Amino acid sequence: MKKRLSCRALGMNCNFEVHDESEEEIAKVIRDHVKRVHKLDFTDALSQKARDLIRFVEA
Ligand SMILES: [Zn+2]
Repeated sequence: MKKRLSCRALGMNCNFEVHDESEEEIAKVIRDHVKRVHKLDFTDALSQKARDLIRFVEA
């Protein structure tokens, strides 16, 4: 089953979304995106928030 995390859910005004089966992969992609696009450090707190916000995608 796929999972999803949107950048908007992290509080950004941004339409970026990650879809993957692996939470690790989602966390990695969103971290790279946040650093590159939003010029923000992906802190442990933000990382935890991201994990809390990962949702299963309805098939
Ligand atoms: Zn973004």
